[in-house]
Amino acid sequence: MTEPMFDKIALIGIGLIGGSIALEARKRGLAKTIVAATRSPETAQKANELKLADHCGIDLAAAARDADLVIVCTPVGACGAAAQAIAPALKPGCIVSDVGSVKQTVIADMAPHIPEGVHFVPAHPVAGTENSGPEAALLDLFEGRWCILTPLPGVDPAAADKLEAFWKALGSEVNRLDPANHDRILAITSHLPHLIAYSIVGTADDLGGHLNSEVLKYAAGGFRDFTRIAASDPTMWRDVFMNNKEAVLEVLQRFQEDLFYLQRAIRWGEGDKLFELFNRTREIRRALIHLHQA
Ligand code: NAP
Repeated sequence: MTEPMFDKIALIGIGLIGGSIALEARKRGLAKTIVAATRSPETAQKANELKLADHCGIDLAAAARDADLVIVCTPVGACGAAAQAIAPALKPGCIVSDVGSVKQTVIADMAPHIPEGVHFVPAHPVAGTENSGPEAALLDLFEGRWCILTPLPGVDPAAADKLEAFWKALGSEVNRLDPANHDRILAITSHLPHLIAYSIVGTADDLGGHLNSEVLKYAAGGFRDFTRIAASDPTMWRDVFMNNKEAVLEVLQRFQEDLFYLQRAIRWGEGDKLFELFNRTREIRRALIHLHQA
């Protein structure tokens, strides 16, 4: 049997993503010890019942002590405080990373707390479900999915390479992006679609009266797919929009303009315009299937 990549991995936050990392790292023998820490005793107890890590407690610093790899898996808005809490316990040479869906603000919040001699390599696994909490943890969640690393200039290349090797060992494909570029791309591929889903489901709910129940009854159309996305964790997504403000507002502006174009085409009976767009978008779906990302 080959040696594990790390002696000790610590996961700060053990919901869908932290829990899935724990399960997968254990299955693949990537660490001798995997510990976790979370905010509430209830979540810690659940994680212990499910045996996601070797142990889960509520002392973040205690979990991070002596770890060779610490991954902060909390909502984006809590990453800075988590980094501050674990900082005094980090051992020299340790790699600190995160899984946040936004990179620029997470880096700005975490980096000032990272001690000299500790290697900070931010990351974002582009994989997930609409479920959250330790019960949502899944094996194979990262299989064939991208994990984007956004290493900062000047980071130890060996530390970035080791984190890349870890994510590949979890089943991911890994790519590296500049943090601003990451945030712009995710604004259109992930953040805007979630905002649209939240908005459509809210609109349907606001219709009120008998329409409300009819909408639920006949939800099998496209609406059902939106309700799945709109069931995603409210804290996580509030934090995403609060932290990727500029990029989201920019794509939202473009989206609204394009929506007006479609509104106009419908009003003036310009079916050819709709047909041309729908044809183009169908090709995008086919290309995604070809790339195995759908
Ligand atoms: P989750 O299932 O809700 O789990 C969040 C975990 O963080 C829980 O253990 C929670 O603990 C803990 N936590 C929350 N606030 C905390 C605080 N202030 N201090 C310490 N721990 C705290 O969330 P998730 O879906 O795994 O998402 C975690 C991160 O992954 C987020 O940054 C998100 O942007 C990113 N991400 C999510 C997805 C996705 O599809 N869900 C995909 C890729 C990346 P308690 O229960 O004890 O409060």
